[in-house]
Amino acid sequence: MKYCSQVCENHRARFTVKARFCRVYLGTNHKWDGGMQRILPESTKLCKQRPQLRSTAFDKGTSHVKWCEGKYEVTEYVAEFYNTFSNIPFFALPPLAAYLSWDYSIAIDAGINVVWGLLVIVGAGSGYFHATLSLSGQLIDEWAIIWVFMTGFALWTPADLYPTTWSRFERWFTCILGLRPSTSDRRTAFKLTVFAAAVLLTGLSLLYPVANAFMLFSFIMPALAILKYEYRYHDIGACTDSRTQTVVRLAKTSLSWLIAAVVCWVNDRLFCQWWQSLPIPYPQLHAIWHVFILIAAYTMCIVASWAHAERMVPSSHPEIRYWPFPACGIPFVHIKAKP
Ligand SMILES: [Zn+2]
Repeated sequence: MKYCSQVCENHRARFTVKARFCRVYLGTNHKWDGGMQRILPESTKLCKQRPQLRSTAFDKGTSHVKWCEGKYEVTEYVAEFYNTFSNIPFFALPPLAAYLSWDYSIAIDAGINVVWGLLVIVGAGSGYFHATLSLSGQLIDEWAIIWVFMTGFALWTPADLYPTTWSRFERWFTCILGLRPSTSDRRTAFKLTVFAAAVLLTGLSLLYPVANAFMLFSFIMPALAILKYEYRYHDIGACTDSRTQTVVRLAKTSLSWLIAAVVCWVNDRLFCQWWQSLPIPYPQLHAIWHVFILIAAYTMCIVASWAHAERMVPSSHPEIRYWPFPACGIPFVHIKAKP
């Protein structure tokens, strides 16, 4: 059974009704476009007749974000079937990553496990969101992504890249907290600042949820700035030894996955009607985005954690290895010498 939804301008409410009731509720002149999760033209009469249908953030269809996949096409229980089940890799890769990076978390920084845990929450939130298209699902998904980015910044931002505005009150901040101006205490202060920023951004995401995706995309820029810094710091471009060449290869692979993922997301979000006009089944670009962005995020975390270990604990001789085969598979940071 299919559902359709209606935005009631005068009540600022959105609700879903079963497709077979659409005609009864909305009249024969209303057409459900399926892909855009909306009925055109919008009617305001209906809201006056049935104000009890006003929705909450947990109701289906309360998110105003639109994806190109048709709604309830495969099963009546899941709004976007492919967008929902393409999140399954989020439940498989992070636990495996936690297993593979066990030595790293013992020898360098156990905080990496927070990133793996948050990636599972991203998958769960995204699955819930696409299955229901509820506002609560959208926010859980986006909050988890905000915290993944912020945890990554807290763990792997080199001290040289700490913002200058932050450095001005860093001395005051460390004094209040009883910290010393050592490298490790500067990072502790920076982590607390990033934590406060994450709380603030989580709150701000409630103001205008439709724009949240663009805020999340803006976080890619500082992530790339960190990678660029590490590239120069380790003089990776000049290195010819196989250990650093492996890192360069993985960094380039990660960027390629990121570009491919963004292309899929933009096409799904902005060029949906063009794709639907083609005489081929829709290639489910948002579902592909889920898989590509997970690979890009994971490989970027591996590159950043290698660079962090190499910079902070060079005696650990970190190197990138692959599982289950030495030449290909899932990359991880192997700690050669336990410091
Ligand atoms: Zn999604």
